[in-house]
Amino acid sequence: MKIQEADAKRLLLAQGLPVPPWEVARSPAEARAAASRLLHDTGKVVIKAQVLVGGRGKAGGVKLAGSDDEAEHVADAILGMQIKGIPVRKVLVAAAADIVKEYYLAAVLDRGVRRILLMGSAEGGVEIETVAATNPDAIVRIHADPLIGLRDWQARELAFRLGLGKHLKATVGIARGLVATMLANDADLVEINPLAVVRGGGAPGSPGGEEQLVCLDAKITLDDSGLFRHPELESMRDPDEEDPADAEARRHDISFIHLDGTIGCMVNGAGLAMTTMDLVKRAGGEPANFLDIGGGAKADRVAAAMRLILDDPKVQAILVNIFGGITRGDEVAHGLIEARRQQRRDVPMVVRIVGTNAEEAARLLEEAHFATATSLDEAARKAVAAAGSHAP
Ligand code: GDP
Ligand code: MN
Repeated sequence: MKIQEADAKRLLLAQGLPVPPWEVARSPAEARAAASRLLHDTGKVVIKAQVLVGGRGKAGGVKLAGSDDEAEHVADAILGMQIKGIPVRKVLVAAAADIVKEYYLAAVLDRGVRRILLMGSAEGGVEIETVAATNPDAIVRIHADPLIGLRDWQARELAFRLGLGKHLKATVGIARGLVATMLANDADLVEINPLAVVRGGGAPGSPGGEEQLVCLDAKITLDDSGLFRHPELESMRDPDEEDPADAEARRHDISFIHLDGTIGCMVNGAGLAMTTMDLVKRAGGEPANFLDIGGGAKADRVAAAMRLILDDPKVQAILVNIFGGITRGDEVAHGLIEARRQQRRDVPMVVRIVGTNAEEAARLLEEAHFATATSLDEAARKAVAAAGSHAP
């Protein structure tokens, strides 16, 4: 789960990382009020679109303002924008920093070596993918042990290699803080871009004061599988930006991943769902989704799964493949019959149900005139053929 910058900054702050003060505003008037509280910090505020995509700056979603009037005006413009197709519904208003130099620093899960990887670069503000492509040697990589964490000497090495020796103590603290943020929240990415050396850094009336290192942007993704351990993080889910299909699937306990093909798949069990997708491909088709209705699915969950599949206008045929164990074939058949009654468009369906109560399922489906198959190969072939001949 991706979380918004403002929430990511809260998690950083909780681990003691330096983040300039901010507020979230949902209207130009709220932005104006926030600016009037934050302006005396550095004399300027930065107003930033809160959307879950990168490159907001380039898209015009990050702007400075020097007065509350200007803040209101800028917020109005940003709140009226769409960034990469996502409407901006809220902005972050923060005391703006006087930037000397921008760096990149992130902690990610390196699954290959089962360690936390710290990646840093002195080319901050630039997307790390771009640095990796144009100047790979500019990226510093350090692996931290998941149990011991980042050692002090490793953090110092990172600081020196980034050219942050002048800010050794701060860099060490921030690097360790990133790892701590990752572990405390079961995150798989904690990215600060830019991590910036700034002048002054807050004390009113002290321009040209000491340089400081601060986190100006924050991007965190949480491991969905670890979320059950952090009920407090659930409130950071942004319903404004979640795909409605994902929310619907979660509500019904269905594992659903949308893909690009035309054959909708409804299967019980993740392994069988993968196999089904392979066989669809072998039969010359492309799966429209991965969908696992889980064990013991009742008729209502089957009907919900069918709605999810049919909400994708690209779907031309549906393949239902159920291996009855805990899941009863007749329950699934009832669900399919009900789902077809509610169905808004007519899409051919091929059903294969084996295992528990398969005979009863076959009788029900036959009465309802469903196309059935006994082997998975046959089911996949029939579904692909039906999609080919089905005019949208
Ligand atoms: P992103 O484009 O979505 O990654 O948004 P960022 O928050 O990283 O902002 C983009 C750029 O805006 C940064 O790389 C900075 O150059 C600039 N920026 C962000 N915050 C401030 C700030 O407080 N002061 C100044 N002067 N520039 C900022
Ligand atoms: Mn950024």
